[in-house]
Amino acid sequence: MITRTLRNIAAMCGGELSSAYDMDKRIAGVVTDSRKITPACLFVPLVGEHFDGHDYSAASLAAGAAATLWQRDRGAAPAGDGVILVDDTLAALQKLSSTYLCQIAPQVVAVTGSNGKTTTKDMITALLEGQYKVHKTAGNFNNHIGLPLTILSMSEDIQIAVLEMGMSSRGEIALLASLAPPDVAVITNVGESHLLQLGSRKEIARAKLEIAEGLKPGGLLVYNGDEPLLSEVMAEPAFHTPEGMKGFRFGLNADNDDYPSGMMTHIGGMTFTSHLYAQRAFTLPLPGRHNVVNALAALVVARHYSVSEDSIAEGLSKLKLTGMRIEMMLAASGLTMLNDAYNASPTSMRAAIDVLQGMKCSGKKIAVLGDMLELGPDEALFHQEIGAYLDPSLTDLVFTYGPLSAHIAKKAEERFGSERVFAFMDKKELTAALLNRIDPKDVVLFKASRGMRLEEVLHSLNEHS
Ligand code: ATP
Ligand code: MG
Repeated sequence: MITRTLRNIAAMCGGELSSAYDMDKRIAGVVTDSRKITPACLFVPLVGEHFDGHDYSAASLAAGAAATLWQRDRGAAPAGDGVILVDDTLAALQKLSSTYLCQIAPQVVAVTGSNGKTTTKDMITALLEGQYKVHKTAGNFNNHIGLPLTILSMSEDIQIAVLEMGMSSRGEIALLASLAPPDVAVITNVGESHLLQLGSRKEIARAKLEIAEGLKPGGLLVYNGDEPLLSEVMAEPAFHTPEGMKGFRFGLNADNDDYPSGMMTHIGGMTFTSHLYAQRAFTLPLPGRHNVVNALAALVVARHYSVSEDSIAEGLSKLKLTGMRIEMMLAASGLTMLNDAYNASPTSMRAAIDVLQGMKCSGKKIAVLGDMLELGPDEALFHQEIGAYLDPSLTDLVFTYGPLSAHIAKKAEERFGSERVFAFMDKKELTAALLNRIDPKDVVLFKASRGMRLEEVLHSLNEHS
């Protein structure tokens, strides 16, 4: 984590120490949540719609913070030492982080995309860390506050920083890439998340490609070549190609620079061969073709940093992702549950359905699907498309929960028939209906947007099945 004197901190963030007395005092680490003050940290009070961190500056100093930033327009700063005056605390936090990153100068690998950022970031880190000192974004700290905090939590001897960059509108990735200009940028895919804010998938592609525009000269862009919009946007006159940018396309199609072949699903994972290492069968302890695609992106980055084929194979086979999103769980009854209820968009919902439909099981395969939120005016259509995507020869029963996913049910019914599709608006009724139909040999997939809290149904099924 960052350790610097207050004099340095003030210079790095463009602030001014309110008292010259403590210029040589050192801070260790940066905290924005006053409940998480650590000894000698720098407290950064942020201003939100419903809160003002400045209310906690004095208490943070009393609790052991070495110093606090203070935004000049917030009135009188706490009396005494350890106050650095700035015009804007958020901008100062960002500036501090980008200056620190410049000083410690690791290689930067930045990962964006609609789905699979965290997974791919974790995979890249796992492949690199046998050979390098790597620091990755913790969890999902991928926005204009999380990224600076991630950078400031790095130690000075980091060789490669693997940073997740998230967004919900145009300009956000550009800001993040300006704070941490990437040597390697990865775009996992272009989906439909944030369609409501951005209006079209092309606009989403433009937003993702801001990461490429932020590359350092000679940087490498590793992008999903199955998505034509990315190449289309890069051909637009408005796209600013960084000097000497190199591109690498990965994906399922055989016209990419790297693509998989021989993909097979097993209990607990996949095996596949990558075009780059045609003689080798890689094993991946994660389900789903989408995870093979994420692994290809990670593999290319590892290769770029000269990680050997053997180390890549070993790294992939031993992957342990923190907070893995599609989690296989066994209920006490023996029922297999695929918990992917963390979030959903059409792309990730199709990926989850692929996992269910690709599984071998002696019982029934059951999809429990809830609403996908924030999809904009075409939300009904997106749900109908999921209904059409479900394959009646590979899925046995479909249960939906919520008003939007009723469109999934209605569409699915056309091919499944009404005796295999059930739509619910109430979790208790859904749970009861599931309990009526399931058998311990079955596999049940749960997938919905966060707001639907579909995991509640999974938990009651676990208790009562
Ligand atoms: P967030 O925007 O929440 O940070 P993320 O981009 O980091 O999401 P992950 O957390 O890695 O994504 O995965 C989220 C969901 O996306 C999971 O449900 C997973 O099944 C699905 N997913 C992961 N990779 C892909 C992919 N390449 N294509 C489609 N869906 C994917
Ligand atoms: Mg994420």
